[in-house]
Amino acid sequence: MTRTLCFALLTAAAAAASACATPTPEQQIVNAAAAALGGRDRILAVKTLVIEGEGSNGNLLQDMTPEAAGQAFLVSGYKRSIDVAAGRARTEQTRTPNFAYFQGQAPQKQVLGIDGDVGYNVAANGTAARVSNAVAKDRRAEIYHHPLTIVRAALDPAARLTNPRTAGGERVIDIAVPNGSAFTLAIDAATTLPTRVVSMTDNPNLGDVAIETSFSGYQDVAGLKLPARLTTKTDKYTTADLRVTRQTIDGDAGNLAAPAAAASAAAITGPPPATVTGEEVAKGIWFLAGQSHHSVLVEFHDHLMLIEAPLNEPRAVAVIAKARELRPGKPLTQLVTSHHHSDHTAGLRAAVAEGLTIITHGANAPFYEEAIRRAHTIAPDALARNSKPVTIEKVDEEREIKDAAMTVDLYHIAGNPHADTLLMAYFPKQRILVEADAFSPGAAVQPYAANLLENVRKRNLKVDRILPLHGTIAPFGDLVKTQAATQ
Ligand SMILES: [Zn+2]
Repeated sequence: MTRTLCFALLTAAAAAASACATPTPEQQIVNAAAAALGGRDRILAVKTLVIEGEGSNGNLLQDMTPEAAGQAFLVSGYKRSIDVAAGRARTEQTRTPNFAYFQGQAPQKQVLGIDGDVGYNVAANGTAARVSNAVAKDRRAEIYHHPLTIVRAALDPAARLTNPRTAGGERVIDIAVPNGSAFTLAIDAATTLPTRVVSMTDNPNLGDVAIETSFSGYQDVAGLKLPARLTTKTDKYTTADLRVTRQTIDGDAGNLAAPAAAASAAAITGPPPATVTGEEVAKGIWFLAGQSHHSVLVEFHDHLMLIEAPLNEPRAVAVIAKARELRPGKPLTQLVTSHHHSDHTAGLRAAVAEGLTIITHGANAPFYEEAIRRAHTIAPDALARNSKPVTIEKVDEEREIKDAAMTVDLYHIAGNPHADTLLMAYFPKQRILVEADAFSPGAAVQPYAANLLENVRKRNLKVDRILPLHGTIAPFGDLVKTQAATQ
């Protein structure tokens, strides 16, 4: 029997597998992995898997600098329940930041689920909410980031197995599972136990990224070999590290159906439409609010400058349009970013696509250059559709940008526990300060405000009003009061 015919029969009916004397190289890799895990029949008989443990989650694109990796959420009470055949999974965990988190240091309970097309979160008060289709897609893929589930899916005659290869002590194969999602599975060439599963997804800031879960510490569980250590990276960033303390096959996985409130909610296909308000707070200075993340427009004699292009591409595009609408006679040429965090730079590429020069703390420059170069083929954005070169101007401790009409001083917010890359913008004539995250009026906790105040006083800045990039415009006294309250 030829391999082609054998494959055709396999695709037609699983029963034909036994008729194929010579499995294809693709099938050989899957069969070897299945044998190492406990055998094809044992794998196919599994209905549910419950994994309990502890570990950590990374703070993706929210650490002190673009390269830093010291911040993490310590994870306890981790329990992940997977209904293998039904494509349902739910993770419950408690995470505690090991750094000064903007929501405070208290442990947070999380419930994150996926049930077919419906992804959902359950808040601490029991309220379930549907998550976006993009998040749900990642959670569906995550089900297969485990040796048992990926090999089980690869054994399905409807799976498409391609590109068998050997590299660096591993045998590797690409798998399109029956629902169409694509994965790469690597197995140890000697033990044939799975070592890694990789899938690709879109990250709005980084574009095409590989999510890779590595497996180690295999142990015997109910006639199977299962890993006791699972480490996941998104691109080069470690996003999860789990040490398994207990795993159960076909135990009580609980009810993994999406809660009714999430299941009946409309699908979220993208960010909400952008709403941008424009309030002229002083001559030549506009506060552009309307959603969770704000921007500031600054009018110079011969050009306009935008401070911040946050949140997502639609918001950034709308903010840029608002700037041009408010001052149609002058070109918008500069974007100042407050710091490198993903929510504050999600519009960076949109701004580059619009031809803006980027002004940022020097420590961000290599990261921004890379962000602008990266491939965005999975979810093409404006810059992917229309590539443009970028000019990045670096600020280290301070820089004055001044002409006949306007003066703005950009200062590094030194030593702030939120990020090492923070810039604030000070308008000496108008006595206005623009800052992000260091002080967010109305927030329950203000872990970074003391340092902001210190920086303002150290530089002897005369501030009447703060234009925060989160929250509403506040008198300077509100920043001072955050310290009175804690003393
Ligand atoms: Zn931030």
